[in-house]
This record gives sequence, C-alpha cells and structure tokens, in this order.
Amino acid sequence: MHCSLIVPGRSTTRILTLAAVCFMISASSAFAQRIDPAIAQQIAAIPAIDNHAHPVLAPPVETTDRDFDALPVDSLEAQSDPLAYRPDFPLLGEAWKALYNFDAPPPLDADGMKKLNAVRQAVASAQGEHFPAWVLAKSSIGVMLANRMSMGRGVQPPTFRWVPYADALIFPLDNTAMAAASPDRKAFFALEDGVRVRYLKDSSLAALPATLDAYLKQVVTATLERQKAGGAVAEKFEVAYLRSFDFGDTPRAEAERIYAKWIGRGTPDAAEYKLLQDYLFRYIATECGRLGLPVHLHANAGAGSYFSIAGVNPLLLEPLFNDPRLRKTNFVLLHGGWPYIREIGALLQKPNVYLDISNQSLFVPPHTQAQWLREWLEFVPEKVLFGSDGYPYSETLGWPESTWIASHNARQALGIALTGMLDDGEIDRKRAGELARMVLRGNAEALYKF
Ligand SMILES: [Zn+2]
Repeated sequence: MHCSLIVPGRSTTRILTLAAVCFMISASSAFAQRIDPAIAQQIAAIPAIDNHAHPVLAPPVETTDRDFDALPVDSLEAQSDPLAYRPDFPLLGEAWKALYNFDAPPPLDADGMKKLNAVRQAVASAQGEHFPAWVLAKSSIGVMLANRMSMGRGVQPPTFRWVPYADALIFPLDNTAMAAASPDRKAFFALEDGVRVRYLKDSSLAALPATLDAYLKQVVTATLERQKAGGAVAEKFEVAYLRSFDFGDTPRAEAERIYAKWIGRGTPDAAEYKLLQDYLFRYIATECGRLGLPVHLHANAGAGSYFSIAGVNPLLLEPLFNDPRLRKTNFVLLHGGWPYIREIGALLQKPNVYLDISNQSLFVPPHTQAQWLREWLEFVPEKVLFGSDGYPYSETLGWPESTWIASHNARQALGIALTGMLDDGEIDRKRAGELARMVLRGNAEALYKF
C-alpha cells in the first residue's frame, strides 16, 4: 500500500536499549473503551507475526532502496489524505518517543524535523545492519513478512520472510491503453512493465515467448518457482491498483488465441486483453496452490485519488474462491477490506480465505477497528491475522513509525474486542488469551507452517 510520497527511511536517534519494549496497554489509557488489565498484559507479551509490511533495508543502503514496493509511488496525484497520513497525526509523537526517545508533539517545523532526523540517524548508525530488526523489537514484532521486490541488507530470514510480487505476470501485452485510464495508472504500468522486464531477465529471456504455453512455462511458472526457491512464503498482488477484481474464467484455448494474436503486435483489444489477464490470474493462483504459496491481495480502498473503490469489492472474488480448482490455494485479503468490512467477514467461511488487518491497524483508531474485529472473532477467528503495512509513507511517518503505530493500535483494538466478548459472557479468560495469541501469531504460524 502506498500513500502520498516518500523517501525511504532516514534513520535515527540516540542509542537505546536493544530490549524489546512491550506496549503498555491498560485501563488507564486514554481510550474510552475499557480494556481488561489481565487481557492487556497477555496481549502486550505476545511477539507478533506481521503478515504484511514493507521494511526498508538497513543503513547505509536505506536511502537508495527502491525495492520496498513494486509500485513505490512518488508520483501519485494528491488525494485527500486520511488523518493518519498527515504531519499532525497525534500518534506520531508517541511513536517518536517510543522508538527514539524523541519528545516533541507533531507537527514538527523545519528545525524540529532536523532534530528528529539527527536522532533517527544516530540510532540507525549505531544499529547498522541490525536496524530493521531493532524496529521490530521496539514494536513487539517477532517476524515480519516483507512485501518487497527483493530482500537485502538487514532484511533477511528468519526475522524477515519474503513476499514478492506477481502482478507484472498478468499484463504481458502492450499496456498503453491500460495506462491511459488515469495519471496514476500511467505511472503504475510504467513500473509494472519494468518489473516484467526484470522477471524476463531473471528467467534468462530477452523477449516474451511467442506462445502462451511457452510464456506460462518459461516466464510465469519459472518466476514463481524461482521466488519460492529464493525464500518466498507467499505471492502478492496489488492488482486492485491496476484493474478490478472481476476475474472471469477464460478457457485455455481462448487465452492461447489472444496471446498469440497480440504478443508484440501493438495495443490489444481491451475486452480480449481482459480475458487473457483473467486466465493468467487463475493460472498463477493455481500454481501458487501447487507451490504452497498463499496469494496476498491488496483489498481495501486506496491509495490514490483515482483508485477504483468499487473494483476492490472482495465479493467480486467469490467465483475464484468457489472454483474447485482453486481450493488448494489460500487467499489472504490484506488491509481488512475497508470499506467492505461485512463482505470480507462473510468470505471467511470459504475454507481458503483469510484476512489481515494491516494498514487499517495504522489508520483506523482502535475503538472503531475493535467493532469489526470483534465480529470476525465471533465468526471464524482462525483466519484473522495481524499486520502493520509498515511503509516509508512520508518524512514524518517512516516505516519504523508506521510499524510501531499499527502494532500499538492493533493491540488496543484487540484488547477492546476481547474485553467486550468477555464482559458479554461469550468467552472466558482462557479463550481470550488464546484468541489474542491466534490473531497476533498463531494463525500466521498455521497458515505459513512456520
Ligand atoms: Zn502494503
């Protein structure tokens, strides 16, 4: 997920203890909704598995790292930014304090920003290659799934697990017409074309094969197998930025005909291109099932002012989830599906559908988040995963701050939801502890077989 703009994480501050710091969640916190102190304690003690984030590489290469996203959009047109992405977001101050012991309320003026960057730099320099792991320890996260084009310095297993991108593989034809849909898509498709060139090169090919069969074997399957061998634990699609979730079931012969007709031959007919994309998406999802790689889908509104919110309705994916050929593929809907909170919750009854709360844990305040989190925990709690979507969003909201804030908010939301369930007699204390561990860690362990 990307928001406004950014330059990868400038680093940090004064040397702080390496010890993991647990979040203090208590009934005395500023939240109106009560959190049971014993539940708060249990939640604070669980080192989470973060299902989705974009950590930036360790110093000194953090300033040149662009692989933290396949679509690192520094050129999106302005949108109306949610409060969490603004420089005066109050939780920024708490994050700076917790991470760097930097005590100043947002927004910072130029001088304050200079001071913050000096403190960040000092910590980053002191931590060096360990800086990304230090950020995790500060945020009570034990393992982070790193959704990146590649792994690198300080972002390595077993603490960081790789989730590469598959979108470029479903757009093998001329994307000029797709790119013309909006200024944002113009930027996105230029980037995706670059990713496809990279995947071709990694597959030792100079050009796209002439037939679909060869493309599937030599590029698509070859790329997925190479990524799996390189440590990938899932495949990510941010396809919602590029087209709608309305994937049909195109027959193989039809896809072969369309591929052969248009490959290397100018701008394809839009309807035919969609049929080919639909086939390729299903093919990749099937291959991911064979390879044991869950499919991650960006599944919430935004970012960007041209993002199609109607096109990201998760119910559009239901035919895929109901396809018997895809029952061996697990799908994880990222970002909690907002605004389709009820729709995404209902989809949990599909045996192969999971969701995570990444990103919404960052921008939705805990009390609000707790309402639908509770609904999901009352329905199919084994398939709800914690996630942060830590990302270098802006100069003030770097990947350390966004990771810390998301972990902080998610634990508050979980505390509120579980306390409510306890107070209403739906669960006992033992079950509350189990549910907390499942969301923060256990469900991910089961899904990825960690
Ligand atoms: Zn993301």
